[in-house]
Amino acid sequence: MKPELIAPCGINCAVCVAFLGYTMSGPKRKHPCLGCRSLDTSGRSLSRKKCAFMKKHCDLLANDKVTFCFECDEFPCQHLKKLDDGYVRNYNMSLIENLNSIKKIGMKRYLRDQKKKYTCSQCGGVVSVHTNRCYTCSIH
Ligand SMILES: [Zn+2]
Repeated sequence: MKPELIAPCGINCAVCVAFLGYTMSGPKRKHPCLGCRSLDTSGRSLSRKKCAFMKKHCDLLANDKVTFCFECDEFPCQHLKKLDDGYVRNYNMSLIENLNSIKKIGMKRYLRDQKKKYTCSQCGGVVSVHTNRCYTCSIH
């Protein structure tokens, strides 16, 4: 669990199925995602990859004016609420809650909590928030 893997919108890339290198339906990805804050090496210039969902809607994120959505006056904005709704419904995780926690307890403690929450009880690997699977010990 690393601070640079916490996306502006509160998603922890470390527990994301794409970052772990798999698709939702199971197979391994050819190109695992490097995280929402990773460098975008697909383009010509080595620019920072923008937050995948929010970049289309948010000038502040697109121009690196904020590091996390909670720094914004409009937090939580309609776009973040929409994304949050989907996550609460489908994956039982609130991005807005995540962001409020980071703000409240700080990144260090937040990452410790995340580690506790997403560590596989069988092998100590990372359990994906999207599929509820540990890709260290449950790979077939
Ligand atoms: Zn495991």
